[in-house]
Amino acid sequence: VVRSHAVQAKLAALPNVKNIIAVASGKGGVGKSTVAVNLALALRAEGASVGVLDADIYGPSQPRMLGTSEKPTSPDGKSMNPIEALGLQAMSIGFLIDEDQPMVWRGPMATQALMQLLNETHWKALDYLVIDLPPGTGDIQLTLSQRIPVSGAVVVTTPQDIALIDAKKGLQMFRKVEVPILGLIENMSFYCCPNCGHRAEIFGSGGGERMSEQFDVALLGRIPLDARIRAQADGGKPTVAADPESDLAKIYRDIARRA
Ligand code: ADP
Repeated sequence: VVRSHAVQAKLAALPNVKNIIAVASGKGGVGKSTVAVNLALALRAEGASVGVLDADIYGPSQPRMLGTSEKPTSPDGKSMNPIEALGLQAMSIGFLIDEDQPMVWRGPMATQALMQLLNETHWKALDYLVIDLPPGTGDIQLTLSQRIPVSGAVVVTTPQDIALIDAKKGLQMFRKVEVPILGLIENMSFYCCPNCGHRAEIFGSGGGERMSEQFDVALLGRIPLDARIRAQADGGKPTVAADPESDLAKIYRDIARRA
C-alpha cells in the first residue's frame, strides 16, 4: 500500500494505525460487510495485526459476524477499548446500541459518530484497520473518504449491471477525493451446485472484468455465491476463521495478498 503525503499528514492523528483500508460498495446487499470481515481475517492469517471498524452505522453487522455483543470498556468515560474477537480488534456502533434499535440520525450526526468511533478507540498497534463503509456514495461516504486517512479502497460489487453501475460511482468517488483504489472484488460471481457440480452465473458474468478494464483497476478476485459463506458469517465465525483450509478461505487469502 502506497501512501500519499496528504494521507501521511492525516495519519498523524492515528499513530497506532499503519494502513487504513476502506471496503465500499455502491449498492447495499452485495456482500460488502462479509468481504470486509473475511479480508480482515485473511490479513490476520498472514500474520498482520488487524482491526475492523464497522462504519455501516445504519446497519451494523460486524458484531453479529464476529459473534460478540460485548460492550466496550472505557478507561476515562470518553474513549473506548476495542472489542477483541477472532484475533481482531473491533469497534462498531452495534456494540453501543441494541441490535433492534434503529439509528435515526441525519448525515452530519452519523459522520460525527463515526469519526468518534475511529478516533476515540484505543487501537493497539495495527498494521491494518479495515473499515466497513456504509453502502452508497452519499454525503456520509464522501465526508468519510475525505476525513479518514484511507491508504486504499476496495470496491465490492456483484456481476449484475445494476450493482456495477453503482460500483462505478464508488470508484469515481474515491478518485475524486484522491483515495488510491486497490481494486475491485466481484462477489456472488457464480454458484456451484453442491449436489451436481453445475455452475450457474446467477447475477450475470464478466461484469467485474469489464469494469476493471474500463476503469483500469485491478480485479482482486471473484467470490462464489456459497451457502457456507452466509451460514458461517451468520454463525459469528466468518469463513476464513471457521474453515481456514477451505477453498473459499483460500480465495479471501489470495485477495488479501493481492490487495
Ligand atoms: P452488504 O454489506 O453489502 O449489505 P452483507 O455482507 O451484509 O452485504 O451480505 C448480504 C447477505 O449476503 C448476508 O446475509 C451475507 O451472509 C450474504 N452473503 C454475502 N456474500 C455471500 C456469498 N459470497 N455467498 C453467499 N452469501 C453471501
